[in-house]
Amino acid sequence: MKRIIIHWTGGTNQPNTTDFEHYHYLINGDGLIIKGKYKPEDNLNCKDGKYAAHTEMGNTDSIGVALCGMKGYTENGDTSYPLTLKQCLEAFKLIAKLCKEYHIPVTPKTVLTHYEFDCNRGKPGRKIDIIYLPPFPNIQKNEIGDFIRNNIETKDP
Ligand SMILES: [Zn+2]
Repeated sequence: MKRIIIHWTGGTNQPNTTDFEHYHYLINGDGLIIKGKYKPEDNLNCKDGKYAAHTEMGNTDSIGVALCGMKGYTENGDTSYPLTLKQCLEAFKLIAKLCKEYHIPVTPKTVLTHYEFDCNRGKPGRKIDIIYLPPFPNIQKNEIGDFIRNNIETKDP
């Protein structure tokens, strides 16, 4: 596996049936980690249709980690299902663990949000996960990726 792409589901703080199909790991609002239907290794080959489709043009070799929540959120709007502090901290821990397990370095090309992935491919704003972390309201949208990476680097799983 070459990279980890970080998402929010855009749903409630619990995974739904579709979420299980689309992400390898889900973190619910209580900070519990729930495995999806597919293993990360299923994304080594995305030509057989048996893989977690989490990132347009970026599924091959990518682990998809999603925080459950942010239903209805837009850049100007709000959500009744904000991500929780516990959830964010457990997600950082999980990603740190996955980096170690799969020997993935923590860089902006290898551990990134879906938003950053789309910016990198010249389609900024196509997906807005993750441009806002409710428990950390002072972090601006273009700082979120670095903020997450800094938090991962300081974890020692
Ligand atoms: Zn996404």
